[in-house]
Amino acid sequence: MAPLPKKKHSRARKGGRAAHHFLSKGALSVCQQCRSVKLPHRVCPTCGYYKGRSVVDVQDPGVQVAETDEHAGHNH
Ligand SMILES: [Zn+2]
Repeated sequence: MAPLPKKKHSRARKGGRAAHHFLSKGALSVCQQCRSVKLPHRVCPTCGYYKGRSVVDVQDPGVQVAETDEHAGHNH
């Protein structure tokens, strides 16, 4: 028989516990290449480098951004 909570936890109890959730801002790391703040284990959005080599070409922003206008006229 699996252990189950005997009583429903009230909103005040849940809210009181969740009051501490604002404390953590989440993980942050510094880019090795440009020293800007970025997410850990992610390609740096500023310079496009990850682990010392260029993964994403940030110098040419038209590649990924230009495609957003393509579906603008359609009404799905
Ligand atoms: Zn960077």
